[in-house]
Amino acid sequence: MLPSPLLETAASGGEAAASSGAGAPRLRDSFGRAITDLRISVTDRCNYKCVYCRTGNEGAQYTELPISDYLRMVRILVSLGIEKVRLTGGEPLLRSGLVEMVAELAQLRTAYHPDSTRLAPGEAGHPLDLALTTNGHLLESLAAPLAAAGLNRVTVSMDAVDPEIFARITRVPRSYERVLAGVRAAQAAGLGPVKVNCVLLRGFNDGQIVPFAEFSRREGVIVRFIEFMPLEEDRTWTPEIVVRMDEILDRLNAWRPSCSVPAGLVPLAARAASETARRYTFRDGVGEVGIIAPVSHPFCGHCSRVRITSDGAVRTCLFSQSDHDLYGQMLRGGTDEDLAAYIRGIVRHKEARHHIGEPGFEKPSRNMVHIGG
Ligand code: SAM
Repeated sequence: MLPSPLLETAASGGEAAASSGAGAPRLRDSFGRAITDLRISVTDRCNYKCVYCRTGNEGAQYTELPISDYLRMVRILVSLGIEKVRLTGGEPLLRSGLVEMVAELAQLRTAYHPDSTRLAPGEAGHPLDLALTTNGHLLESLAAPLAAAGLNRVTVSMDAVDPEIFARITRVPRSYERVLAGVRAAQAAGLGPVKVNCVLLRGFNDGQIVPFAEFSRREGVIVRFIEFMPLEEDRTWTPEIVVRMDEILDRLNAWRPSCSVPAGLVPLAARAASETARRYTFRDGVGEVGIIAPVSHPFCGHCSRVRITSDGAVRTCLFSQSDHDLYGQMLRGGTDEDLAAYIRGIVRHKEARHHIGEPGFEKPSRNMVHIGG
């Protein structure tokens, strides 16, 4: 057992031993929210400089860890109740060893029954739900190897379907063609239906709402519009620049997909309470658009997430004012039980909600690109 100063917020040795062993309860915060969803950034580097995300002058600010260290962190978190793992960045496809990492993750099994009781020794859990968020620039050649390694789903960030607007946002010439090829390769590799996430900025790409609906119908992808949050490196965010859910719905409701299909969205049922997107199709059932509205309709009450940054820090909220140095605990020799207890101690203090738009709102201690979206 480690000397107690090693563990900043974690419990004593007895608690540490109980935190991941037989009968240990699944990971929950002090509000009773079960933490089942991990997002892990595998690099702080990115090959795009999207205007709403990055200044364009700064590169990576944080280190990246050996893949084996991320895998150890994930294994511990899975033993505590994580069931979904999303690989992100920076740009995760820049990370060497990613396919091998997915193959290792695909071997892991969940540790709890759906009723939150722990599996008995020898009882087999389910494979994890493995997803990736990428800008898609390198996806064309990596989609098939990632699918073969065991990746289940991919989300591609695309903020326009007009090639010129797209390149103006990413600040990379001919990026649209590359990403479109990536989306199609992912669909062909069985990673579909691919989700395409679009952040709308008033006066910049808000004319892309209907073109994205057409894109969903044409390419067979799920499009999701995400409200812009104050998480950028620059100071671009204002309440006025956010294109809110109600406005997006108005524009889509007024659109008529063809002369044989009347205008009007058809809501789709939520698949889980923690689902962040409100989902819709059109009157003929072709295409799917979703809206993720953290600014106008926050969903923090159902948050099931925790994040690990590329340098191995745990964040309990996108808007946390600090992060927790899990990697430091590992370097100082923490056992798996010590690290599990450390994580439980952190998660206990997960924030109730974000405070976007409220007086006194403070920007978080890291920007989106350095957290992992
Ligand atoms: N490079 C990968 C990608 O492009 O998907 C992963 C990292 S990127 C930071 C993850 C997602 O965060 C992208 O979909 C991006 O559009 C989104 N994002 C970045 N800044 C944002 C902001 N201020 N508000 C909302 N979403 C943001």
